Amino acid sequence: MSRPDFSLGLPPPSHRLNIDTNALAHNWRALDRLSVSGTAGAAVKADCYGLGTDTCVPVLRDAGAAMFFVAHWSEAAPLLEHVRADQVAVLHGPMTGADVEFARATGAVPVINSLDQARRWSDAGGATCHLMVDTGINRLGLAVGDLSDPSVQSLNIDVFMSHLACADEDSSMNARQLSAFREASGKVRYKRLSLANSAGIALGPDYAFDVTRPGLALYGGVPREELSGTIHQVAHIEAAIIQVREISAGECVGYNAEFQAPDSMRVGTVSLGYADGFLRARGRDFALEHGGRQLPLLGKVSMDMIVIDLTLAPDLTEGDWLKVPFYLPVAAQQSAVSQYELLTVLGHRLRAG
Ligand SMILES: *Cc1c(COP(=O)(O)O)cnc(C)c1O
Repeated sequence: MSRPDFSLGLPPPSHRLNIDTNALAHNWRALDRLSVSGTAGAAVKADCYGLGTDTCVPVLRDAGAAMFFVAHWSEAAPLLEHVRADQVAVLHGPMTGADVEFARATGAVPVINSLDQARRWSDAGGATCHLMVDTGINRLGLAVGDLSDPSVQSLNIDVFMSHLACADEDSSMNARQLSAFREASGKVRYKRLSLANSAGIALGPDYAFDVTRPGLALYGGVPREELSGTIHQVAHIEAAIIQVREISAGECVGYNAEFQAPDSMRVGTVSLGYADGFLRARGRDFALEHGGRQLPLLGKVSMDMIVIDLTLAPDLTEGDWLKVPFYLPVAAQQSAVSQYELLTVLGHRLRAG
């Protein structure tokens, strides 16, 4: 079978995700300023929380970020197109010999999380690494009691870090983790300290140390009220009307015929659905926007499509683009998921626009 010729380009999809790169740079600078004693890095795992490594990382780098955190070794590869290898920290650490080989071949820096990882890294030559100590989240990281082990003491540690479990809440756990972190940092040699994620930065200068690790707030998430005036929306979604129809009183709309028209009305089908991160929970009492007008959703999100009421917008028709409100704190609440989840389920198809 011969390959079709795509040289004319693909027809554009009828929805799109626009990344406001100025807002992204603004958010990094704002979080960097709030990291008073330290400098902000950037958590760029999960493809920059769904917004795209190739779009976001150069912007963060040019704004001034010099340390980039990913979870998996496979996520380091696309980063290396944009930043120096010694600026890349891999949070899962060297779990296998293949991870160690990859680190040594590329220069990406592992975060050591266990005695096993400490030994594996030392055995391979023990180049510069970072170290994660657990102060209460019990996810990844060495126990404080393991820090005195010779395999840890001999490591060449750049950033000594821990991770807050409840930074987005006013929990006494924050202060407990802060003091456990301070105490743990007396047990090893390191160059720099790092504790705060986005919400941790908002807890105040005590939490900032040398390097902060914001993720969510870079991309427009607001994990604590203190950040709400500071953080700008980064992801903007638009979708087009792909069909307009007139329906009569008593006719239904969408899956499970949930909406029934009380009168004859004009409705529009819009190209957006769950595969684009637009979840069913968001359907009720929700509206798209056009020129300041609210266009209420009718019935359920039906896979790739939603249907809206165009009764008060007779001028709108097929091909017109509508704004999909996506201020994360509000959109996440409407979708009944966290801001993290809403960003990361946006979907590749939406980004292809
Ligand atoms: C994901 C992650 C971050 C970023 O957290 P946000 O809450 O998104 O700011 C920071 N540190 C570690 C270890 C992480 O895994």
